Amino acid sequence: MSEHHADHRGAAKANDLGPVPRIALNSGYDIPQLGYGVFKVDPAQTEKFVTEALEVGYRHIDTAAIYGNEEGVGRAIAASGIARDELFITTKLWNDRQAGDDPRRALEESLGKLGLDHVDLYLTHWPAPAKGNFVNAWTQLVALNEAGLARSVGVSNHLVEHLEKIHEATGVLPAVNQIELHPAYQQREVVEWCTSRGVHIEAWGPLGQGKYDLFATPAIRDAAAAHDRSPAQVVLRWHLQQGYIVFPKTVNRDRMIENARLFDFALSDAEMREITALDPQDGSGRVGSHPTELN
Ligand code: NAD
Repeated sequence: MSEHHADHRGAAKANDLGPVPRIALNSGYDIPQLGYGVFKVDPAQTEKFVTEALEVGYRHIDTAAIYGNEEGVGRAIAASGIARDELFITTKLWNDRQAGDDPRRALEESLGKLGLDHVDLYLTHWPAPAKGNFVNAWTQLVALNEAGLARSVGVSNHLVEHLEKIHEATGVLPAVNQIELHPAYQQREVVEWCTSRGVHIEAWGPLGQGKYDLFATPAIRDAAAAHDRSPAQVVLRWHLQQGYIVFPKTVNRDRMIENARLFDFALSDAEMREITALDPQDGSGRVGSHPTELN
């Protein structure tokens, strides 16, 4: 792996992520704050790209049953020879498996595909409120956690109204809430509810999925120039300094490295404030589905 040399914008030698901070979850386990997400990674190529991510140094992989690529993730894990305890693997329960005791069967199927006997984190993917099963799903996840099939359990795309219902029903808070979050869409109400209760925020679409011109905004462009970094690195560094967990997706090896070289620079308080101010706070920055509408 000697082909790359040291330009801190990206090109770097493999296995050079530096120490990725770990965040303590309410389960007693901790999670690497940076990972690699595989949404929309072609199932036929997932083994290859996850293998590359592991070579680059990522140890936290975020997948989901609905992505259809858990088997590729599993093959990459098996081929890597990396000790299980050095890896942090997340998968998610799809919306059509929330009823009755189907969540247990769904997790067993995911574990079979991943070739694992437990995941590190299992999430309810969306509340899908029109189905009326998300409280049941959460109750089942709590039982799966107690049974040791998932070391930590949490939710995704839950708004305050959903979080209050699952907490009221079980008395158990999720370890994380994985929500769409990037500078143009910061979901302040749900973030405040979660962080004040020790529920960590995982930011999906941390780069806005490339769907709008985040990288061209002056606050981000200027910070990138000031630190001789790329706009993507500035946005990811903003997430880390906000305390969020991120797992940007790319199938480009140089970008995998670029997206991980975040631990040898820091944004100033003024730069953080300017990036935080980019949210118009009217919801117009959202690039994904709305949790009350996806069912
Ligand atoms: P993202 O914000 O990570 O954007 C990915 C896109 O950004 C890539 O396709 C690429 O075009 C671009 N990109 C990546 N690195 C770049 C770089 N260095 N420079 C320029 N462009 C770059 O969006 P995402 O994939 O949707 O989110 C990350 C992960 O979050 C997913 O892979 C998945 O694991 C998770 N996710 C979860 C949900 C959920 O409902 N829970 C939804 C979407 C994504």
